[in-house]
Amino acid sequence: MKKLYLIGNWKMNPTNTKEAKKLASDILRGVKKIKIKNVEVIICPPFTYFAPIKLPNQKAMHLGAQNCHFEDGGAYTGEISPQMLRNLGCEYVIIGHSERRGYFGEDSKLINKKLKAVLKNKMTPILAIGEKEKEGQGSIQEIKDQLTGALAGLKASEVKKIIFAYEPVWAISGGDKSHKSAQPNDVLGMRIYIKKLLMDLYNKRLAENVPIIYGGSSNASNILGFMRDAEMDGALVGSASLDAEEFVKMAEIIEYL
Ligand code: PEP
Repeated sequence: MKKLYLIGNWKMNPTNTKEAKKLASDILRGVKKIKIKNVEVIICPPFTYFAPIKLPNQKAMHLGAQNCHFEDGGAYTGEISPQMLRNLGCEYVIIGHSERRGYFGEDSKLINKKLKAVLKNKMTPILAIGEKEKEGQGSIQEIKDQLTGALAGLKASEVKKIIFAYEPVWAISGGDKSHKSAQPNDVLGMRIYIKKLLMDLYNKRLAENVPIIYGGSSNASNILGFMRDAEMDGALVGSASLDAEEFVKMAEIIEYL
């Protein structure tokens, strides 16, 4: 059976360890209760919570990072290396999130280096791509440029290890719960386009098998549409991942589709 993913990107939240530990343990308890089997549940907290949260050999929930540097160590003030993350039990790293691209000026060249570093350190990259404007003229080209730039120089054997997260930037809530997500139909169209690009760049088998997940104001009320009608392989969730009950409900919906 195909593996599905539910990934919580906590961003710069919560603001203290006590709340972070509670959020993680509430999610863990919830996913254990619903006996999750087909869904890989991953939380991506701020780095400072990695150690206090502790997820040793957990099958029900896994640890991911929101970003990393491309070198294993050295004089890079304020950065964290993939090797450090791996040593803390991190298994996944989000690369190329639109907030990293937008606020921190990350371009395809840098994203490509980070992708390679994550793969070298035997973690799974979650590569975020998405167009900035809704129905913008250049959106197809934007996706193509982001994808080809990020994957430059990568072999099929490496690319098949990546989780692709399609996140239209205009659909990301930024914490506003009333923000509108994309429509499953549009997301399905983009899924087909991403698969076609991967087929042209690599091969049909790879394109068919790589997971593509949706991100952008997804929650327990709309996740079914993305899974069923847009044929997504899961979701990258921002604000709804800070609510343990909502996040666990999403896991349950994906598990028992
Ligand atoms: C995100 O930023 O990755 C995201 C999906 O955020 P939200 O769910 O809050 O739209």
